[in-house]
Amino acid sequence: MNKNSRKELDEAVKKYGFKKPVGLSKVLKRLLKTATEENDLYMIGAVNYYYGLVYYYKGSRIMVLSYALKAASIFEKLDDYRMLAKSYNLLGIGYVAQENYHLALDAYSKVQEIVKYHKNTEVTYSTVMNNMAECYFQMGAIEKSTKLVKPSFEKAVKKASIMPSSVVIYGINLAECYEGLGEYDKAGEVLDKCEEYVGRVEMLMVVCALYARRACVAYAEKDYVMADKYVNKTLEIAKDCADTYEIHRDFEKIAHSAIQCGQFDIAEKFMVILKDYAKKTQHILDKIIECRVMLDYFNKRGDSLKAIEYSIKLNQLYEKRIAEEKTTQLEVHERAEAVNKEVKALLKKVKQSEEIAEKDGLTGLLNRPALLKVTNEFVEIGEKENKKVGGIFMDIDCFKEYNDTYGHAMGDQVIKAIADICIKEENKYVKFARYGGDEFLGITLGYKDIDVNEIAKRIARAVKKEEIKHKNNKNIDRVSVSIGTVNLDMKTSTIFDIVNLSDKALYEAKRGGKNAIYNFNIADYEKGGKKKAYNKIEY
Ligand code: GH3
Ligand code: MG
Repeated sequence: MNKNSRKELDEAVKKYGFKKPVGLSKVLKRLLKTATEENDLYMIGAVNYYYGLVYYYKGSRIMVLSYALKAASIFEKLDDYRMLAKSYNLLGIGYVAQENYHLALDAYSKVQEIVKYHKNTEVTYSTVMNNMAECYFQMGAIEKSTKLVKPSFEKAVKKASIMPSSVVIYGINLAECYEGLGEYDKAGEVLDKCEEYVGRVEMLMVVCALYARRACVAYAEKDYVMADKYVNKTLEIAKDCADTYEIHRDFEKIAHSAIQCGQFDIAEKFMVILKDYAKKTQHILDKIIECRVMLDYFNKRGDSLKAIEYSIKLNQLYEKRIAEEKTTQLEVHERAEAVNKEVKALLKKVKQSEEIAEKDGLTGLLNRPALLKVTNEFVEIGEKENKKVGGIFMDIDCFKEYNDTYGHAMGDQVIKAIADICIKEENKYVKFARYGGDEFLGITLGYKDIDVNEIAKRIARAVKKEEIKHKNNKNIDRVSVSIGTVNLDMKTSTIFDIVNLSDKALYEAKRGGKNAIYNFNIADYEKGGKKKAYNKIEY
């Protein structure tokens, strides 16, 4: 993951928030380009997630789904549970905005699963419960909804000093449940509690929603004085809110209640807000809300001509909505399929680039850091399962002279030919790396001493058998190698010993005249010290 990009993203989110989507979108676009070039899957996922949020605040519901889906499928592959929880949560929000509560519940259940096992996610358990409760409420399962949101509210009250907004958000939903169940007293109690924290809630829309809910409950209780008071408070705050579309259903409810009581002037004030929004939005639901209120209004006022006009309009909107739902579902499905394909291709590309990054460009063998990673894994298994880990350190003899005599390009060919011989020896438990210029290091897991030496012998023989002419080699007219081997018990040795002791054995092979294999034997060392430790292996 590119740390600079991540920092830049965090800073942009802080600077622009989601209320200035244009500024944030610009940064996201640039970051996505870099991330794609670098095959930085984490950043690609993160940018997609924030794009989703930006579109949510822009009110573009289908785009939210598309980006959230992509982010979720990326973080699923990356096993990043924090981002995964956030992405699925956003996906749920996207489905709710489309009134697709079944799919929203599916998405939220995934979040629930994640936050159950991981405590430190940004999406809290209470938030998920609250979100799920909202879906159940909309689906008509009010008791179930109450059961889910009540604990969230109670928990938030206990922690009110650090999360005042949560008290209000969960409280509004809980009160709606009680109202739905006809338990107005309980709804009133919850809302009373919420009002204690109003001064500490940053989002005006939440405050507006609280007052609107209070007004709805008051109307349901037929407490018109109270209703009046909260209607006025709602309208006052609504003026200062940038957008109130998320609570237009509450406005609709208030308007209907006011119409029923003959308070037409109050209804008209909400009608203006609903009408304005219906005019500027693409979303049929908002147009339907406006139409329903207008129809009710003109009916009650006895203006049957206008009422018929709105009744026809409302029917047309319902029909349009059914048609739109079908195409939207198809679109979501198609987008999900496209996203899947895209993520698969992306993963393939990332895997390839990781493989390339682990390999030496000239020979295709692992590079040194990649081999150290493998060695670490071998050492860990060796320790656990009581298996030996071996080292085979090899260096081409008089290679400087070879380059001087035949040129660097020919030298490269020699390195490649020897690497190919090493590759033939590789399997799950034998891995080779190009360690440096003309040096190679092989690591084995679970081999006997004799078998480690056998590998070295086969390689030395194969190199000779290639018969690569080298007239300036020290004691033979072809290319040869020197090899040092070691095989160690991981209970008493370390990764450092494997590399260090095989390198020392290699040094002995060079010192002994090159074109040779020397083995460092730990048992012999313990018996007779350095002098007895190195044994020449004939081949
Ligand atoms: P010795 O027998 O003691 O190993 O002597 P040597 O001449 O092989 O010397 P040494 O191993 O110290 O030096 C390795 C040489 O390998 C030095 C460098 O010019 C050459 N070399 C390193 N990397 C490459 C490469 O990628 N291609 C080629 N052609 N030569 C390389
Ligand atoms: Mg050499």
